[in-house]
Amino acid sequence: MQKKRVVLSYPPHLVDQPIISKLVKDFDLMVNIMRARITPREEGRLVLEMTGKRPALDAGIRYLAEMGVEIQSLAQDVKWREDRCTHCSGCVSVCPTKALDLDRAKMEVSFKRERCIACELCIPVCPYHAMEILF
Ligand code: SF4
Ligand code: SF4
Repeated sequence: MQKKRVVLSYPPHLVDQPIISKLVKDFDLMVNIMRARITPREEGRLVLEMTGKRPALDAGIRYLAEMGVEIQSLAQDVKWREDRCTHCSGCVSVCPTKALDLDRAKMEVSFKRERCIACELCIPVCPYHAMEILF
């Protein structure tokens, strides 16, 4: 089983379509809606965590794309506010993917977005609110 967190942007004509229930029934995925902002006849945004076997996840993503849903990795919405970061390294030990990493020679923390899985573990740990998820 694998997990994938994505941000979905719906065009107005899809807002009242049963897209999420299709993911569950037709693709055998477990779906957890983490955040939602949808208004009838307007655009909507959802943050979803989908769990399932790799081929089912891929098929579900393909279905969403074919329906015209814009899909973005949630990691795109994770921001490291370098201007606020004091390089205290408090977040480094909680980050499971080393997206937040410490250069011990320079004692500097860096953020590598391509490694981030948007688990949000760093958000409550940072005393300076330097890690944000924008949604
Ligand atoms: S959201 Fe998770 S993976 Fe991304 S930087 Fe924070 S702790 Fe690391
Ligand atoms: S916990 Fe916050 S201030 Fe400390 S290194 Fe991490 S992002 Fe920077």
